[in-house]
Amino acid sequence: MYTPLLYPFSNHRHFDRGGLLDIPSAKRRMNEIKFALEQEIYGYQIPAQSRLGSGQIGINDRKFLSLSSYDYLGLLGHPNIEAAAYEAIRTFGTGTSGARLLTGTNDLHLRLERCIARFIGVEASMTVTSGYVANMTPLTALFGPKDLIISDEFNHRSLVEAFKLTGMEVQFFAHNDMEALETILKSQPAGRRKIIVSEGIFSMEGDRCPLPELVRLKQEYGAFLMIDEAHSLGVNGPTGRGIHEHFGIPASAVDLWTGSLSKTIPSNGGYIAGDASLILYLQHAGLPFIFSSALSPIASGVALKAIETIESEPERIVRLRNNSNFLIEGLQQLGYDTGITESAVIPVIMGGVAATHTMSQELYKRGFQATAVTFPAVPVGKSRLRLCARADMEQAEIEGTLAAFAALTHWIPSKSETSAGFNFREGSLHSVARRA
Ligand code: PMP
Repeated sequence: MYTPLLYPFSNHRHFDRGGLLDIPSAKRRMNEIKFALEQEIYGYQIPAQSRLGSGQIGINDRKFLSLSSYDYLGLLGHPNIEAAAYEAIRTFGTGTSGARLLTGTNDLHLRLERCIARFIGVEASMTVTSGYVANMTPLTALFGPKDLIISDEFNHRSLVEAFKLTGMEVQFFAHNDMEALETILKSQPAGRRKIIVSEGIFSMEGDRCPLPELVRLKQEYGAFLMIDEAHSLGVNGPTGRGIHEHFGIPASAVDLWTGSLSKTIPSNGGYIAGDASLILYLQHAGLPFIFSSALSPIASGVALKAIETIESEPERIVRLRNNSNFLIEGLQQLGYDTGITESAVIPVIMGGVAATHTMSQELYKRGFQATAVTFPAVPVGKSRLRLCARADMEQAEIEGTLAAFAALTHWIPSKSETSAGFNFREGSLHSVARRA
């Protein structure tokens, strides 16, 4: 069975209970989950029981090659970084037992924050407990209901939820469409505070934001600019400093940088970076910094050593780029739709939910773990496998991956299927049956 450890959730009796779930949206979602469990195509929460080596995970006594890990530079398991984790525990213990402004701050926090700022090329940074929280912290502290957020339509859910918390008006522009952005900017009354929000590398599509254009428009129309670098830090630019390094723009051209310490950086946590006065203010007005406990010594020690490792082992960035290109070209040659990616985030767009889960399951049977991403993370009809290339993938592993995809090309949807998008509840079962 695909997900043997999911008991008690795989016991379908639960699905017919009412109570808190007696609302249409919950019923719809639970029907989808029930269907996936019954068909044994539910591909989430597959528990890894061990890390076997670079990109290899152990599940149910079998060895899998992870195709969807965010460990872009292959730093997970790096001996120096693991040694830094042990050293952090020896020096500071396992937890911080307090919030940053009170008893929670230690030396590692300050060293890490200086290191992040220096690496990006800004004056200062501060850390919070996740990249998700990093997106909420500045927006809620700096803006109010009269102000305007202008957001790329593909921005991550953590940004969209942060927008809601501010109570601000939000206007979305079509993905990376600078004319659409300018139209919104032009229509605003002079003097209204407004912030443009985008991502260095988009988490589902794998393309970049057009930073030079964003900076030009922000300057021309007196807006602020915030960029989420969750998938870009360590990946974009010749030395991994981010989207500004890729385009050769100074980091100070962007007002607010946010990012995660749980992707290329193999830790947990998030950061906000920018001018020193801004960061000092956010330390005293950013609610998650004030009211949530500080990053653990393990998380800070690991993150600090990981950034130092990115600087001392730049060849990892070159290998990541080569592996990404090899994988993208190979998949395209087989006829798969990899969308508009230009990075290590590689979508394999399948269209329907069932086709996507089945594809994920077929890869699983062949020893590969590839995450299925469906609505609401992507639009209905645009379900996909989201692959992530890694610097430490061996040539043989990439070739093995492509061979597995080559054996599954009968699952590639026709153009009409992807543009119509098959429906999980209505047409999809037939589509599965037709191809099986
Ligand atoms: N921003 C983006 C673009 C992301 O993809 C993610 C996580 N997938 C986050 C923020 C949140 O980061 P974290 O996992 O550290 O909370």
